[in-house]
This record gives sequence, structure tokens and C-alpha cells, in this order.
Amino acid sequence: MFHFDNSYSRLPEKFFASVYPEPVEGPKLLKFNEKLASELGIEVDLSDPDRLAATLAGNVVPQGASPLAMAYAGHQFGNFVPQLGDGRAILLGEVVDQKGLRRDIQWKGAGPTPFSRRGDGRAALGPVLREYIVSEAMHALGIPATRALAAVATGEQVYREMPEQGAVFVRVAASHVRVGTFQFFAARGDTEGVKTLADYVIDRHYPQLKSAENPYAALLRAIAFAQAALIARWLGIGFVHGVMNTDNMTISGETIDFGPCAFLDEYHQMKVFSSIDQGGRYAYRNQPGIGQWNIARLAECLLPLIDEDQDKAVEAANAVLGEFGERFQAEWIAVFRAKLGLVTQGEGDGELVQELMSIMQQQEADFTLVFRALANAAEGDDERFLGEFSEPEKPAEWLASWRNKLAAEPDAAAARPAAIRAVNPAIIPRNHRIQEAISAANYGDLSFFERLLEALEKPYEERPDFSDLMTPPTPEERVTRTFCGT
Ligand code: AMP
Ligand code: MG
Repeated sequence: MFHFDNSYSRLPEKFFASVYPEPVEGPKLLKFNEKLASELGIEVDLSDPDRLAATLAGNVVPQGASPLAMAYAGHQFGNFVPQLGDGRAILLGEVVDQKGLRRDIQWKGAGPTPFSRRGDGRAALGPVLREYIVSEAMHALGIPATRALAAVATGEQVYREMPEQGAVFVRVAASHVRVGTFQFFAARGDTEGVKTLADYVIDRHYPQLKSAENPYAALLRAIAFAQAALIARWLGIGFVHGVMNTDNMTISGETIDFGPCAFLDEYHQMKVFSSIDQGGRYAYRNQPGIGQWNIARLAECLLPLIDEDQDKAVEAANAVLGEFGERFQAEWIAVFRAKLGLVTQGEGDGELVQELMSIMQQQEADFTLVFRALANAAEGDDERFLGEFSEPEKPAEWLASWRNKLAAEPDAAAARPAAIRAVNPAIIPRNHRIQEAISAANYGDLSFFERLLEALEKPYEERPDFSDLMTPPTPEERVTRTFCGT
């Protein structure tokens, strides 16, 4: 069913542990992403759902797979752990998709591996559905992210704070190489391992760098730029990743690991949802700074490859870290300029955005709805925008400064409302809705999960059928804490 072409399993043995999934008792297909499967050239026999479920749960290992758990290390909340690795994920193998891109197919929750430490190697239904919903929503929003191929119930229980239903998530990624994968070898003083990995990554993700003057410095810059762009886009949709440890930052620039992530309802720059992020290390506005910190950890791993002369290597790496800051700023302003419907760069654009955000924060206005309502304001109707605030005076003043800016734009007024709607979503996976989908699924009802997925497929459209999914939570519906809960 899969046309595997596995490259990671051909790397030296120290890169992974070969391991087979542990079969589960009662695999049952919860959701299968047919569209993605066809993009990946996966041939499925939908007339035999039992066999499909068995394969997607790991009970049947498909032909051509070379199952393995990847080795990696990582900084978790700033503390270095020299060995993490896939403790509950097994890479089946790789396929080359219709566009010629190599993609990993991974079972998450398929049983213990040599990296499981004290964990059971399993996943619970709730986090599996959360990852399904959010990763597919990110994709529909146009933001690079790993994808959801399938969710399968295992028919077994997993024990977290309480017994929960078990599930397996089948994840698709450009690759699962992370900053922490480099750290695994660097921490062991294995420069050869770092080099093998860097060469693998250049081949797979950044082949154009092979001819660069210094391919490893160029690699560091390319990864830094991919992350700067990604994080700017997160901020543009009010996304809080929640656990930006170095083992959760990809080399490809895709968003990965949707454990405690959440989207902002009311805007606050220091918003945190994760129950374990007590210091707010991964708060909304800290994300670019943490991105840069993670890239600095990657830079440390690459130093010996960048230059034999340590001082020169450090100088080159520091230059890239500086560029990360500039690049992030440029990406951020580009994202927010578009959100305001501005097409030309002007002095004070950043201040105009900051001014709006500060009013939003003071008045606890909804991040998504405020920006969406700018499209109506661009059509001359301010009511919806002003209605998002409790006190209209300041937002009204802000609208006047915004209009001053717009007046200086080349005449794009006719196209502006549509342009604003094309970058400011109407529907995001709001936390209380994800929770609602999970709660119903725990009682065997997947209908709300299905409906939410359908709504999130077209996040930039306001479809009356889904108007209930556009609104922020009422005070009783609010979910302020999310859990890794794996
Ligand atoms: P995460 O915080 O989800 O990125 O996971 C951090 C580390 O913990 C990784 O090495 C995971 O493989 C491992 N891990 C998380 N949950 C489990 C589990 N249920 N069983 C085994 N390992 C786990
Ligand atoms: Mg992780």
C-alpha cells in the first residue's frame, strides 16, 4: 500500500533503534485522510476497513517498511537531556509524494521503544484527536506543519491521571529531524555523527546549499530563516506552541508536536496555556526569542563543521543569530502589514500594529475576530470592528490612524476587503471546541470532531453553517489550561 523508499534507515546504526510496533487489541479506524493519502501515492483498500485499521495501528507492518525509533536529545524548558529519542513513535518509512518531496510516515503511540524510559509508548485518544485537528487546521491556514494521515483507536486503555482510551496517530512530516537530533551527537563529542546528519539534512531539505561556499554555515542560516518565518506566521494567527523545546523544533521548518498548544481567544502577549509552563517561558510573545535561543543551541552543534578555527566558527554562527533577529522582524512586519491590508512598506507600520495590539490587550479583545473585522471596516462598516471592544473610543481613534495609512497606499481600495479576509481567518481551532470534540469522542461520538474538521478546512471563509464555531468561548466555556497528556 505504501511505496516506501527509506533513507533514514540507511544511516549508521547509532542514529536509531530498529523496533517493531506492539500490536493492539482492537484497532478501529477513527479517521483517515484520503486526500493526503492520494498525495502520498498510498493505495488503500477502503472496502477492508479492518485491515486498514490494523495497518494504521501498527498490527500489520506494511511491506517495505523499516520501522525504527529515532535517537535525539534536547533542551526541555532550558535543561539539557542528553537522551530523549522516539519513546512512543515509530517511523514506518518514507515515501516520495506527487511533488517529488520525501515524507516520513510515523506511528505515534505504537508501543515502547528503547527510548521509552518510564513511558508506556502509548498515546491517549484526546491528544491524538487534538493533534489531528490542529495540524490539519495549520495546514489549511497555510502554515507549514506535520500532517495527519490517520487516527486509530486501539481498543486498549492507557493510564494517565485516569484510565483513558488508547489511540495511534499516523503522522506525516517532511522529516522528523530536529535541533535535538544534532544535539544527540554533539553531546557525545561525535563530530562525525553531526557531519553525517548535516549532510543528510542538506541532501534532503536544502540541496541547493551543497554548492555554497560554507555549506554548514549556510545550513544554519537556512534553518534559522525557516524558523523565523514559521514563528512570525504563528504570531499572525495567535498560535501558542506551548512546548518549544529543542526536540520539538524541526530542521525542515514545519510546526511539530501539538501537545499543549492553543490559539488565543482574547489577546494577551504573555498568554500561556500549557499546564507545565509555569514560568511562561513559551508565552505568545516569547516565541521568537525562544526560537533564536534554540537556533543558538543548533549553532553550537554545528561549530566544528563551520570552521576548524573555533573563533571564526563562533563569529560566523553569531552573525547568523543576528540575522535571525532581523529576519524575524522582517517576516513579522510582512505578516501583520498584510493583516492590516497594507501593501506598501511605510514608516510607522510596526507602531500602528503595536498600537492596535495594545488596545486589544487592554480590552481583552478577541485576536481573530478583531483582525477579521478589519475587512468590514475596509468596506466602510466599522460596527463589527468596534463591537469587538468593550470601550470604543481608542479603537475608533486607531481606525482613523489606520485610514491615514491606507490613504497613502496606491489605490488598492477595491481589492482590500478580500485581501484582508484572505489572511485573517474567520475560523481557528478554538480551545473550547477542541475540548468539546474530545469529550464527545470519549463517549464514542465523533460527529463534532468531524464537523470541526470540516469547518477548519476553509478557515478563511465565513460559512453560515459554521457560525457557532467562529465565536469565542463564553466565560463558562473557557479552557485556560492545556496538558501534554501523552
Ligand atoms: P514531548 O514532550 O511530547 O515532545 O516528548 C518528550 C519525550 O518524552 C520524547 O522523547 C518522547 O518520546 C517521550 N515520551 C512522551 N510520552 C511518552 C510515552 N507515553 N511513552 C514513552 N515515551 C514518551
Ligand atoms: Mg516531542
